[in-house]
Amino acid sequence: MSQCEALPLILVVEDEPEIRRFLRVSLTGNGYQILEATKGEEALTLAADKKPDVIILDLGLPDIDGTEVAGKIREWSQVPIIILSARNQEVDKVAALDLGADDYLTKPFGVYELLARIKVALKHASRAKTEEEEPVFSAGKICVDMAKRLVFLDGEEVHLTPNEYKLLLTLVQSPGKLISQQQLLRAVWGPGYAKEGHYLRVYMGQLRRKLEEDPANPKHLITEPGLGYRFCE
Ligand code: CA
Repeated sequence: MSQCEALPLILVVEDEPEIRRFLRVSLTGNGYQILEATKGEEALTLAADKKPDVIILDLGLPDIDGTEVAGKIREWSQVPIIILSARNQEVDKVAALDLGADDYLTKPFGVYELLARIKVALKHASRAKTEEEEPVFSAGKICVDMAKRLVFLDGEEVHLTPNEYKLLLTLVQSPGKLISQQQLLRAVWGPGYAKEGHYLRVYMGQLRRKLEEDPANPKHLITEPGLGYRFCE
């Protein structure tokens, strides 16, 4: 296989020429191939025809809403979707994440943030494809032995309650990825608990006290206000 064929393909859906140019320069300069769409309908066609590895999707498009585009793609594809939103689009952002978008970037964003998000999305997608799971996860001083269901901090075993463990496990299974409140509540407490966001605040506080050096300024267990949580390595 030639090197060219192995380059991940990214579909950029954005109607603003300046942001599109920024994305084109940043992505092609960092080892990605890109496809561009300026409208939602065009994005749906390209997503189906070209099967990109990642989709970067602006929420404010001239024809159909980006939120709707994300929902339609999710009906048939699990391709990672990173949404681009403006500061005044918080509600749309939450809706897009609920419909299955994977992550988001708020404009304006920098090239490093962009590349980091894409890397996480690609890693997560390839992991989902191969179903391959590392039995031991470690980041900084935290180590999770998934086979034995044990958690260590700096080599010392930390006792977690079953729900604390499930919450931590759900986060570390997709390191770096934003996991929505609903996803976490469903994974830990079950489908009837999707609105109990306060459970998460309480349990995340407990996890931080047990695992973070400075629970008030967490390095790993990060809150994305109004959206969900992310485990940073
Ligand atoms: Ca726009």
